[in-house]
Amino acid sequence: MAKFSGYKCSVCGKEYTPDSVTYTCPDDGGNLDVTYDYSLLASRINPDEILSSSDASIWRYTALLPVDDPGYDGTPLKSVGWTPIYSPQSLMKELGLELLWIKDDGRNPTASFKDRASAIVVARAKEIEAEVVVTASTGNAGAALAGMAAAAAHQAVIFAPKTAPPAKIAQLLVFGAKVYLVDGNYDQAFDLSIKAAETFGWYCRNTGFNPFTAEGKKTAAYEIWEQVMVKQNLKKPLCIFISVGDGNIISGLHKGFKDLQALGWLEKIPRIFGVQSVGSAAIANAFGKGTEEILSVQADTLADSISVDMPRDGLRALRAATHTDGAYITVGDESILLAIARLGKEGIFAEPAAATAFAGLQKAIESGLITPIDPVLVMNTGSGLKDVKAAQKAVQPAPIIEPTLRALEAVMK
Ligand SMILES: *Cc1c(COP(=O)(O)O)cnc(C)c1O
Ligand SMILES: [Zn+2]
Repeated sequence: MAKFSGYKCSVCGKEYTPDSVTYTCPDDGGNLDVTYDYSLLASRINPDEILSSSDASIWRYTALLPVDDPGYDGTPLKSVGWTPIYSPQSLMKELGLELLWIKDDGRNPTASFKDRASAIVVARAKEIEAEVVVTASTGNAGAALAGMAAAAAHQAVIFAPKTAPPAKIAQLLVFGAKVYLVDGNYDQAFDLSIKAAETFGWYCRNTGFNPFTAEGKKTAAYEIWEQVMVKQNLKKPLCIFISVGDGNIISGLHKGFKDLQALGWLEKIPRIFGVQSVGSAAIANAFGKGTEEILSVQADTLADSISVDMPRDGLRALRAATHTDGAYITVGDESILLAIARLGKEGIFAEPAAATAFAGLQKAIESGLITPIDPVLVMNTGSGLKDVKAAQKAVQPAPIIEPTLRALEAVMK
C-alpha cells in the first residue's frame, strides 16, 4: 500500500492512482502533485510529536512523506535537512528589517538544497526496486543524487553540461557516479537523460519531471514552520526569498506549506518571492506579464544552478508566488556577486545561484516591496565552495608578498 493517495496534474487537474503513472501527466505533460488523505493523516499524527522529535533530519517528517523510512541509518542519506537558521543582527540593521533569518541549506551532506529531493527519490528507487537512478543536472542535483545513491549502494548516472563548475563535476566522480558531460546546455542534457532513462529502464530523478523531488523539497517548508513560525510564535506573514531556475524548489516549498495548512496546523501560508537572474528569467517574465504562459529564454548567467532556458516546473513555480501574495524579482549577475560578498561578511558562503535570493531581497527592499515590519527568511540553497571561480570574482584578490615584514608593511599601506 502506497503512503500517498495518488497524483494530481497541475495543468488539467486529472487524478491518477499511485501505480498508474511514474513521471508527468500522460495527457499534457503537466507536473504531478503527490496527493494525500489529509484528514486521515491529521487524525493519525499529532503535530507535537513532530515538534518534539529528536531526529535532526528530514526523516523527522517520515509520517508526511510519500516513502517509508528507507533504512541506511548512519549514512549521509539520513542526515539530510534540519539545516541551521541564522539571524545576523548587523545585516538586519543594515537592511532596516525587524526580523531576518537565513536558512543555510549549503550545510546539507553534498552542500546544496538538492539533497532533500535526492534522498526521497533514492528511497523511492529502493521501494520500486530500481537499481539505476539517473538525472540531468547543472551540477547540484547530480551531486546530490550521486551522494545519496552512494549512501544507498545504488548506481547513479549523471548528465551535466560540460561547462558545469569543476567542484560539482569532482563531487559526481568522487561519489562514484557514471558521469557524462554533455557538449550542450542543461536543457539538452535534460532531453538526453529522459531518452536514456526510457531506453535503458533507469529511474529518472529529473527536476520538474519526477513528482517525488518536490516531496523532498517540501521538507524545507516544514522546517521553516518549526524553526521560525512555531518557535518564534510569528504572527505577521513570513516573506520567503528563494532563487529559481527550473522552479522545483519554490514549488516544493509551496507544497510543504499547503500540506501544513491542509492538516490544520498552519493558518496562513507565507508570502513566497522567487528570484531569477535577469539572464534566465522565464518565470519572472510571465509574472511580469500577468500570464501563466511561460516562454523559453536563452539563458545566460554566471549563476549556473539557475541557468535554464525552459523551466521544467514553471507553472507551479509561478503559482507559488501568485497564490501567496508573493512576487518574482530579477537581479543581474553584478548584484549576485555583490550578494556573495555581503553574505560572506556574516560568515555565510553562498554559490551564485544561492546568493541570488539575497540579491532579490535587497532589490525588494529598495523598491518598497518589502517594508521594515515584514519578517523575512532567505534560503541559501548551495555552498560557495561549489563554485570557487565565481567566489573569486566577488572579491578583491589577495596580494602576493615576499616572506618579510618589510614587504608586508609595504602592502599594508
Ligand atoms: C537547483 C538550485 C536552485 C534552483 O532550484 P530550481 O528547482 O531549479 O528552481 C537554486 N540554487 C541552487 C544552489 C540550486 O542548486
Ligand atoms: Zn494533465
